[in-house]
Amino acid sequence: MISLENRSTFTENNKKEIFDLIIIGGGITGAGILLDACSRGKKCLLIEKNDYASGTSSKSTKLIHGGLRYLKNLEFKMVSDVGKERNIAFQNAPHLVRPEKMLVPLYKGKGFKKWQLSIALKIYDLLAKVRKIDRRKMLSKDETRAVEPRINSYNLIGGGLYAEYRTDDARLTTSIIKTANQYHGNSLNYMEVEKIEKKDHFEVSCFDHILNQKIIFQSEHVINATGPWADQTRLLEKEKFQSKIRLSKGIHIVVPKAALPVKHAVYYHLEDERMCFAIPRGGTTYIGTTDDDYKGSQDKINITKEEVSYLINGVNSTFTDQRIQNSDIISSWAGLRPLIEEEGKASTEISRKDEIFISKTGMITIAGGKLTGYRLMAKRAVDLIFSKETCRTQNISIDGNFKPKFNSYHDFKQYLCLNYKINDLKSDYFIQNYGLNSISILDDFQDAKQKLICCEMKYCFEKEGVFSLLDFFYRRTGQMYFDPKSVTNDLDEVVSYYNQFISKFGIKTVSKKEILSELENQINFI
Ligand SMILES: Cc1cc2nc3c(=O)[nH]c(=O)nc-3n(C[C@H](O)[C@H](O)[C@H](O)COP(=O)(O)OP(=O)(O)OC[C@H]3O[C@@H](n4cnc5c(N)ncnc54)[C@H](O)[C@@H]3O)c2cc1C
Repeated sequence: MISLENRSTFTENNKKEIFDLIIIGGGITGAGILLDACSRGKKCLLIEKNDYASGTSSKSTKLIHGGLRYLKNLEFKMVSDVGKERNIAFQNAPHLVRPEKMLVPLYKGKGFKKWQLSIALKIYDLLAKVRKIDRRKMLSKDETRAVEPRINSYNLIGGGLYAEYRTDDARLTTSIIKTANQYHGNSLNYMEVEKIEKKDHFEVSCFDHILNQKIIFQSEHVINATGPWADQTRLLEKEKFQSKIRLSKGIHIVVPKAALPVKHAVYYHLEDERMCFAIPRGGTTYIGTTDDDYKGSQDKINITKEEVSYLINGVNSTFTDQRIQNSDIISSWAGLRPLIEEEGKASTEISRKDEIFISKTGMITIAGGKLTGYRLMAKRAVDLIFSKETCRTQNISIDGNFKPKFNSYHDFKQYLCLNYKINDLKSDYFIQNYGLNSISILDDFQDAKQKLICCEMKYCFEKEGVFSLLDFFYRRTGQMYFDPKSVTNDLDEVVSYYNQFISKFGIKTVSKKEILSELENQINFI
C-alpha cells in the first residue's frame, strides 16, 4: 500500500503513466477487482476517497454466508454461487474467514415450520457443498436449550444448527488490497475522484486529501465500484442515465458478552417475520440488522432511537434471563446496501444480486451483491475488459494466510501463545486481524520495548495505509466497535506516538479529546 513516505513520489511518477485500469472505490468490490485485474498482469490503480472499507464494507453483519433467507425467495443460483464462494474464501483466507455454527430457534406460529427449516437447511448444505461432518442438525426443544440455554423456551419447538462463516469485513478488504499489492497493484486512499472524462484515454481528476492537491490519472479503462455512491460517480461523467440503485439502511448494536452471553451465532425471527442475528465476537455480542429504505446522505448515516429499540425488543423477546437495555450498548454502526431496484418491492424483498452498467464512454459500473460474492463480482467485471487473460483468484492466497507455514489455526495459535506469552483471546485477536503478519508485530514488540499497541500502530502505518488514528481503531483493529474500553487504555501514549509519527509529514495531529468524543458518538442515537 502507498504509505505516507512514498505517496508524493508515487503520484509524481504516475502523472504521465497510462494505467490499464483505474478502479474507483476501495470497498470489498473495488478490492476484489484490483486483485483480479492485477493478477492477470494488468497495471492497475485503485482510488478511494476516504479510508479503505470505510463505506458499507466495514458496516455489514460480517458473515461469509450463503444467505439462508434467499432460499425463501427461491434464489437457488445465488445461494449456490455464494455458498461455493464461502469455501473458496475459507481456503484462501483461513485467518480471516472462520467457521461459525448458526442456530435457528423454532417457535410455534412464528417463522419457519420445522419441516420447512429442515428441507431449507438440507438444500442449503447441498448447494454450498458443505462437508458431511458440518451438515445441518435438526434439534429437539431440549437440545436447542442445551446448545443455547438463554433461548426463550415459551412456544419453542426445536431448532436447526448449521454451518456458516464469519469474518471482519474491513480486515478482509484491506487484506485483499495488500494481496493485490503483491501483484504490483497500486492503491491510494484519501484520494477523491471529482471528474471523469474520456479523451484518447480516460482522465480521472482527483483531489488528494493528504497532500492537499489536485492530480489527474490516466487509464485505458475505468470501473466504478463505489457501492452506495455508484450514481454520484456516474454523474461525474456528466452523462444522463436512469438510476437503478436503491439504498437500504442496516444498523448493528454491540453489547458486552455478559449482557447477552450467546455461545453460538443465533439467527432468530422477529414479530414482523424479519430475521436478526446475535453474534458472539471476543468479549462482546453484536446484534443486527435492520433493513429500511434510505434517502439521506451516504457520508453521514445516523442511527435512530427507534431502530435501536427495534433490535433490543427483538433480542429481549428471543432470549430470557437478563433484558438488554440501551445502557448496555457499547458501540454501533450503520451501513447502506446498494440494492438494484425492483419496482413495487419492499427493500427486504429485493434480491441481493449485483448488476453491471456500461456508460457511452465505456466506464463500467458494478453495484449490488454481497461481501461473500466479491470474487465472482470482480471476475464478471474484469472479464468484460481483459477477457484474454484468465481469472486466477480462486487459488490466490490472501495476505496473512498462515498455511502452509502452520498446518492449522490451532497450531498457529499454540505457537503465538507459547512464543509470545499471550493468552487465548489475544492470540485469536492477532490471528484474525493480521494472520501470519502477527509474527512481525509481536517480534517488533519483543525487540522494541514499546507498548504492543504502538508496535501494532507502526505496522499499520507502514504496511496498511493508515493515515489517522480512527482508521487504526475502527478498521484495522476493530477496537472502536468490539473493545471500545481498550481504546482509552494508554491513550495519552498512543496519541503522542501517533502525533510524533505523522508530524514529519505535515499531517493534522489528533487530540485525545477527539478520540474520546468519537467513542461517545458510538452510543449517541437521534
Ligand atoms: C447492514 C448490512 C449488513 C450486511 N451484511 C452482509 C453480510 O453479513 N455478508 C455479506 O456477504 N454481505 C453483507 N452485506 C452486503 C455487503 O456489505 C455489501 O454488498 C458490500 O460491502 C458492498 O461493498 P462495495 O465495495 O460495493 O461498497 P462500499 O464498501 O461502500 O465501497 C464503496 C467505496 O467507494 C468510495 N467512494 C465513493 N465515492 C468515491 C469517489 N468519488 N472517489 C473515490 N472513492 C469513492 C467510498 O468511500 C467507499 O469506500 C451487508 C450490507 C449491509 C448494509
